[in-house]
Amino acid sequence: MQIMDGKKVAAEIKDEIAREVDQIKNSGGKIPHLAAILVGNDPPSETYVAGKVRVCEEVGFKSTLVRFTDDISEERLIEAVRDLNKNPDVDGFIVQLPLPEHISEPNIIESIDPHKDVDGFHPVNIGRMVLGLPSFVSATPAGIIELIRRYDIPTAGRSCLVIGRSNIVGRPLSNLLSLKRYPGNATVTLAHSKTTNLPGLILESDIIIAALGSPEFITGEMIKEGAVVIDVGITRVKSDFTKSGYKLIGDVKFDEVAPKCSFITPVPGGVGPMTIISLLRNTLLASKSKRFG
Ligand code: NAD
Repeated sequence: MQIMDGKKVAAEIKDEIAREVDQIKNSGGKIPHLAAILVGNDPPSETYVAGKVRVCEEVGFKSTLVRFTDDISEERLIEAVRDLNKNPDVDGFIVQLPLPEHISEPNIIESIDPHKDVDGFHPVNIGRMVLGLPSFVSATPAGIIELIRRYDIPTAGRSCLVIGRSNIVGRPLSNLLSLKRYPGNATVTLAHSKTTNLPGLILESDIIIAALGSPEFITGEMIKEGAVVIDVGITRVKSDFTKSGYKLIGDVKFDEVAPKCSFITPVPGGVGPMTIISLLRNTLLASKSKRFG
């Protein structure tokens, strides 16, 4: 059994990006610039955005945080998005979700220039991804695909079960893993809350990607020997044994499942660190090529 160490791989990629930014600086090129729009002061959103800005600075990117109070109108927010679309210094930007209820998330996402949509949420990027064309792929699926690539895990012809069909994780992953390229060419099944016989599907699968958000849902007896298990789930639970007072639990009962696997990701330290790195990779890509293809 080999652990897919997302923390280590993410640190390697971060170094690669920092070196590339150094080269850009030394040759007098334009420093990649990521902007983020944050509406309101939802604590998890504050934490995520602060983390994204910090990592940008660590690799030498320029970053800008644009903040609005949660009573901003949809029209005003769309105006702010259009300003970033037009700003030639900003290579890519994100609008941190969720947005207040009076604002339509699809309307905001569709107002982003797809060439600056480094979160990969715009329908143009999703459509291009499904067709296997150059596009920005959202951070968590992109991070998982990169982790599979870095561990050289065979995917062609293998049965792959993705559990969870959200637009930001499960659904894009199921598309990516069925594309006619590596990592891909897998025979993909997308399971969700209406799926019947989930245990039977899990037991048959060579690769299982758990993105349902149900702590320790997958147990040792559910998987076959030699399976690859990628645990996307993160649930925060109270703990008396950590300084912060909480710990993160994945969708997989790691101690039982790991001994049966060929490869497995831990939680924390698996998929999580790869997610933020993918946003940096997308921003670097945006700064290098202003147009797809
Ligand atoms: P979501 O709630 O939008 O989607 C969950 C999906 O799981 C749904 O499609 C639902 O149908 C399916 N599901 C729920 N219970 C099920 C069951 N018993 N059987 C089969 N399917 C079931 O969640 P999401 O945004 O995709 O996130 C999923 C998990 O991944 C969460 O724990 C989230 O915190 C985590 N996550 C982690 C990262 C990361 O960077 N590691 C990024 C995004 C999400």
